[in-house]
Amino acid sequence: MDKHEITMDKIVSLSKRRGFVFQSSEIYGGQAGAWDYGPLGIELKKNIQNAWWKEMTRMHNNIVGLDAAIFMHPKVWEASGHIANFSDPLVDCKDCKMRFRSDTMDQEALKERKCPNCGGELTEPRAFNLMFKTHIGPAEDSSSELYLRPETAQGIYVNYKNVIQSNRMKIPFGIAQVGKAFRNEIVTKNFIFRTCEFEQMEMQFFVKPGEDEKYFEYWREQRWNFYKKYGVRMDKMRWYHHEKLAHYAKDAYDIEYEFPMGYSELEGVHNRTDFDLTQHTKFSGKDMRYIDQDNGNEKYIPYIIETSAGLTRNVLMFLCDAYEEQNLTQEGGKEDYRTVLHFHPSIAPVTVAVLPLMKKDGLAEMALDIQNELKEDFVTSYDQGGAIGKRYRRQDEVGTPFCVTVDYDSKEDKTVTLRFRDSMEQIRLPISELSTRIHAEIKKYQRV
Ligand code: ATP
Repeated sequence: MDKHEITMDKIVSLSKRRGFVFQSSEIYGGQAGAWDYGPLGIELKKNIQNAWWKEMTRMHNNIVGLDAAIFMHPKVWEASGHIANFSDPLVDCKDCKMRFRSDTMDQEALKERKCPNCGGELTEPRAFNLMFKTHIGPAEDSSSELYLRPETAQGIYVNYKNVIQSNRMKIPFGIAQVGKAFRNEIVTKNFIFRTCEFEQMEMQFFVKPGEDEKYFEYWREQRWNFYKKYGVRMDKMRWYHHEKLAHYAKDAYDIEYEFPMGYSELEGVHNRTDFDLTQHTKFSGKDMRYIDQDNGNEKYIPYIIETSAGLTRNVLMFLCDAYEEQNLTQEGGKEDYRTVLHFHPSIAPVTVAVLPLMKKDGLAEMALDIQNELKEDFVTSYDQGGAIGKRYRRQDEVGTPFCVTVDYDSKEDKTVTLRFRDSMEQIRLPISELSTRIHAEIKKYQRV
């Protein structure tokens, strides 16, 4: 393998070194499967969330947002089928006590009942429910039992009538939500790819039965185009069509991305039929039918097309997709590589870095003034330490698309250098034109 190829270890190490993602409770030896987002990680995560939110709400007249509570009535999970069905098959090693998901582990080892770790004997597979259970209030009895939600979708279903009534929504319409979800995953691995606590970005689209297949195709296309719009390398994306469907689904596709460990699910697009709302009708006793006032008050339970993406899994995808160790070695010169994150400017944690060539002679003050001007429009950073070339490389490594350099000429003619991350091209322009120019560059951004 080429030493400059991307590996998960490199992503983990860059994430820690530059403040994207830290291991949770590291000073205590770490908490398995839990991660903390550092100063750049939180900006990256928010930008991805904002891009998704814009795409899924602002760009559609018939989609609105919601933020439902994590704790829900326990009956919700009975109705949704999660208590009965939301489990993975688990096998334990009787010797080393390691646990495996029998559906994803080495099938030869499973057949021979041999632990892939130590060769010890494996138990029979048993269903392991992935929901975290807890108690609310002081008494820890069965009447106080609650679950941490394993998906955000149910918060949308139980509110769908509230949203129709309060916002006068008419079918077809959608409700979007971003929030935490929790799953007691048997195996958490591959950094933030699979964790017990994670965030989802889900949109549930309510349609008339019979129109579901049309909207299923529509949303598949929309979701594919979202990644294209934000500069993801589409040759690393593919569709996976589910043959084995979840208990609620009529059809399901995943968008898979080629992570360093191979193609894996990034987002699911599901036709959930009228399953969830029918179940909630049964369990709550409330009429969940839609009344079509434009069609003689026809009543029906809508079908639901769901787009369900992992936000934290998207953070990993954008990091991997942006990562490059670029060969800049000149002919006959010494080996020179730069690590660069080619984030789309709307996704990059910092949009503009302002760098004075020197700290002295009033250049630092001038650079800080320019940064202050840009702060209203962009996420900025300021760096005055070290040689300018080194500072550019530092910005490249965290994916800052634009650097503004203030030098001695700036004092004379009120111009600065604008440097582009991907091409490393530099142009000179008046300070007064900076903001407009950067806006224009963001608009025309295309992945190179
Ligand atoms: P998998 O097969 O990977 O367990 P799933 O098919 O159960 O996932 P869904 O229930 O469809 O996943 O969840 C929708 C999205 O939520 C996934 O595409 C993924 O991006 C994200 N997601 C699900 N489980 C996790 C997890 N444990 N950690 C991080 N993200 C997750």
